[in-house]
Amino acid sequence: MPKPVPLSILDLREQRYSCHGCGDCCRDFSVQLRDEDLDRLGRQRWEERLGERIVVEFRGQRYLRQRPDGACVFLQEDGLCRIHAEFGFDEKPVACRLFPFNLAPDARGTTAGLNFACSSVRANRGGGLPAHRDDLVRALRQVPEAATVAPPRLDRRRRATASEVDAIAESLDAWLRRSGIPLRVRLDGFAWLCQSLGAANFEKVRDARVRELADLLVSALPQELDHLPVDPPGRGQRRMLRQASFARIEDPRFTGDESTPSLRARLSQWRRSRRFARGRGAVPPLARGWRTPATFAAIEAVPSVAGDPPIADLVLRWLRATLLGGRAWGSGYYGWPIADGMQALALDVACLGWLARAHAAGEGKAAVDLASVEEALGRIDRARGRAVWLGSAGERLRLRYFAADDGLRRLVLANW
Ligand code: SF4
Repeated sequence: MPKPVPLSILDLREQRYSCHGCGDCCRDFSVQLRDEDLDRLGRQRWEERLGERIVVEFRGQRYLRQRPDGACVFLQEDGLCRIHAEFGFDEKPVACRLFPFNLAPDARGTTAGLNFACSSVRANRGGGLPAHRDDLVRALRQVPEAATVAPPRLDRRRRATASEVDAIAESLDAWLRRSGIPLRVRLDGFAWLCQSLGAANFEKVRDARVRELADLLVSALPQELDHLPVDPPGRGQRRMLRQASFARIEDPRFTGDESTPSLRARLSQWRRSRRFARGRGAVPPLARGWRTPATFAAIEAVPSVAGDPPIADLVLRWLRATLLGGRAWGSGYYGWPIADGMQALALDVACLGWLARAHAAGEGKAAVDLASVEEALGRIDRARGRAVWLGSAGERLRLRYFAADDGLRRLVLANW
């Protein structure tokens, strides 16, 4: 029998969660299936009993089929799951049993982080996270590869040690929770840290020196930011930000009815991405359930997000949960090195601001409020680590472009 994999649950006292049965995760949320899930669904004989396909393939991955309105094929009219109703909780696909937790295994064990696509997580409603340990341990038994995952890499060539991973996560976290600093300054400092650590030469800086470097950078904040002012983003940077934002709300629907699903989906994605890049005239539909602003100019007319306390609480909780919950790099983020994963997270911050402004524009609001930030964050985190195109080589190239010329700082400051 394989040795049990040690599990640690996101250690963030400020964060709470219990399921409030909204059913949102069964509507509008694609469920990727593992081999074990397919075996289990096969034993439950759904295709014979329902007389319809329940699994769809997309870009080499298998997903539960969705109805045209985005609901899972197993979601009943009473809002409950049919698999759960007939066979019990432990017979559902692993992703359903885990949500909104994500498992991020590395050489030390597995960390359970939290996904802010869940409205109860965003609203911080429910009990303490350790209450979910038993369910998580049972689900982890269905993830045998968790026992064999290597530690994340520091950069493209070097594996990180456990203490190096902790040093970087803890230093970034220390900056985010430093009190008395406005949200905008904290996000700017965060982008600067991600850019600076992302550019570090880890060939020369290893072991205890990684912590020294990270602590040194954090200790220079926020004064360092005053010495390093940045210009507003250039046209090319703003263009790429709109494309990156589009990539985070792109919403394939797995109905299984497409005649050539892969080709059609790719072409349509490419066309809409081009319209976001152009950034003129009418806006293509944004996320499902969002009102689309009339024009890109209407989005630009909404001021950057003001960090009043409820917005600051939400955004900082999300960033800290992402870093401490193993969702920023390694197995929690497409297997990416820490240097790249940090920059992707800073880009998410900039996209979050832009999408919150887009949501507010669609609602006809003159300024971004908490509801718009919640909506945008739900979409951003829904894609984080799950949307296959965000883990592609092209996305890494895009990040390299942003990281040059202070792009990440400039885009964060333009939207917050
Ligand atoms: S299988 Fe059940 S729990 Fe999973 S998404 Fe479908 S309805 Fe929801």
